[in-house]
Amino acid sequence: MGYWQSEREFTAFCREYLQKEGFVSIGEAGEIGGNKPAGTIPAGTKIFKHVKEKTLVFAVTGSKPLSEGFNMVAAHVDSPRIDCKTNPLYEKNHLALFDTRYYGGIKPYQWTAMPLSMHGVVFTKDGGRKNICIGEEDADPIFTITDLLPHLAREQMKKTAAEFIGGEELDILAGSKPYKTPEQEENNIEESNIEEKVKLNILNILFEKYGMTEQDFSSAEIEFVPAFPARDLGLDRSMIGAYGHDDRCCAFAAFSAAVELSREGAPEKTIICLLVDKEETGSYGNTGSQSRLLENFIAQLSGGRTHNAPNQPHDAIGGIFANAQIISADVNAGFDPNYADVYDTKTSSYLGKGITVTKYPGRGGSDAGAEFCHKVQSLFDKNNVRWQHGDMGKVGAGGGGTIAWCFSNLGAEVIDCGIPVLSMHSPFEVISKIDLWTCYKAYRTFLNAI
Ligand code: MN
Ligand code: MN
Repeated sequence: MGYWQSEREFTAFCREYLQKEGFVSIGEAGEIGGNKPAGTIPAGTKIFKHVKEKTLVFAVTGSKPLSEGFNMVAAHVDSPRIDCKTNPLYEKNHLALFDTRYYGGIKPYQWTAMPLSMHGVVFTKDGGRKNICIGEEDADPIFTITDLLPHLAREQMKKTAAEFIGGEELDILAGSKPYKTPEQEENNIEESNIEEKVKLNILNILFEKYGMTEQDFSSAEIEFVPAFPARDLGLDRSMIGAYGHDDRCCAFAAFSAAVELSREGAPEKTIICLLVDKEETGSYGNTGSQSRLLENFIAQLSGGRTHNAPNQPHDAIGGIFANAQIISADVNAGFDPNYADVYDTKTSSYLGKGITVTKYPGRGGSDAGAEFCHKVQSLFDKNNVRWQHGDMGKVGAGGGGTIAWCFSNLGAEVIDCGIPVLSMHSPFEVISKIDLWTCYKAYRTFLNAI
């Protein structure tokens, strides 16, 4: 698996990596969690759970009992993108297009006139399953959403940015060549009575490549993301430009920190890393942070079958969460001199100045208490982890949410710590390399020491 462009691809990559590191699935390791009483999992056990192939949670059990809490770093692995509708393929004026809806908060105009790749999973009538990945290899074809030439854009340019390109106008160019039978191809015959030959040709290609039919779109998950790799940015190569830094840069740092610590044997406190889906659409659903997936994982770790099983009363899970310490590992809005007006310079984060510690995430967030905030900042100070303020924007300028409140609601101490980003939610986001490194160091310090 060479690409990390969706939550499925990212967690599949991480799962494979964990298995090579000796982690076992909580499902496969039936004796762990399932039927044994609490407290029987040996310290140093490396265990993971892959939830619906979109969310991955893994742990290294500590020498202290779980009732004393756990240390967790949680990042999300979904990013804004363009999704296919359930009946997407159509032909108009001799071009074939995919009708789409977008996922997460985007400015639609940013997604036109650039290369896109196609990722996803499709289930065919015969029960087969195919993973789709087109547009990442140099030899692959790519896709695009067209934009209007300036010469004819006089009326369009009068619109506001929100109306400029509407959500329904983000349809993806899929093909332009009419279908021909092999005989017609061979004899160069143009005649055919079939309607929508360009669309038919695309369906024919999809059938030959994946065995899928038009009807199979109705259950498939197909998404389009920018088709370019991460690149060094700036003459000094101090930054990285890429799609999906929100939040895979923090996810990468969290994953690396937790895996490295797992090689050092049993920690004192249980270490957990959560790589979760659906943050960009509100953390809903069975792979989102609002679900019981983390509670259920903790219940399994602590020996109960479910959070309310007779041998594991809910109070016990509540007690574990009350002692839990969690970093919500998510990116923050780095100060952008091009748009200085919306930032408070005193509490903004800056590229190259270290990990952000966000006490007040603004609209849609949960603020960390003074005690825990101080504890985390002191820990970073003591371990030479360079941190900076991370309040998002001026009062009233807007704001953003993270997954912090989902775990705060369960009684845990939670604080947002992550990497400042420029051009967040655009197809090409920018971070600083030193911040990425500092973030990894911060998460490692937090998991191990707090
Ligand atoms: Mn995020
Ligand atoms: Mn986001």
